[in-house]
Amino acid sequence: MFIGHFAAAFLIGYMFSGVPIIIPLLGVSFPDILWSILVISGVEKAKFDKNKPLMSDIVFESYPISHSLVLTSILALIIGLVLALFLKNPFIAVIFVIASISHWILDVMVHIKDLPVFGFSSNDIKFGFGLWRRGPLAFVAEYLFYIIIATITVPMPYLLLILFLGTVFHFININAFFGFKNEDITGGSSKRYAIVILAIFVLFILFSQIILG
Ligand SMILES: [Zn+2]
Repeated sequence: MFIGHFAAAFLIGYMFSGVPIIIPLLGVSFPDILWSILVISGVEKAKFDKNKPLMSDIVFESYPISHSLVLTSILALIIGLVLALFLKNPFIAVIFVIASISHWILDVMVHIKDLPVFGFSSNDIKFGFGLWRRGPLAFVAEYLFYIIIATITVPMPYLLLILFLGTVFHFININAFFGFKNEDITGGSSKRYAIVILAIFVLFILFSQIILG
């Protein structure tokens, strides 16, 4: 999931309007940014098949640090506390953790039973309702979720730009939902995929911060 996470950031920013929007933007992205870094460095593992482009084809073999409910939330709390100290607002730590947890909850909707709960052992309880198995439905559901939440929460002067931004980023990845081409853009390399993910998260954060900040 990508733009769906940012819809959650807009919602959190709307509910806690005293906190700079960059905090929920960073918080919802934290698990995937951490995942990218850990996959690039070989700590967490995912398997890609260069002839299978669908989201449901990705095998998330191991990602307890970046994508478990408990361990990732503890790490998010540490980062949140550092940000809170830096920006002199203790509330920022809470918002950062809430945003990071929203990532796990939304990932559970689409992932295929691979999201660990605790993150401390290999025989963990895992969740994932598997919406990605129904690619076109997942594509439409995530897009609608983004449009509806953005329309409710983003102030009018910025709304069109935010909708445009989400549309561009969602449609860039359309093949991963529909499988028009039997070819994975990353050539089956998990490290290359992680670099792409890192880049698009950084870009989306940057663009939304410029629009909303
Ligand atoms: Zn994720």
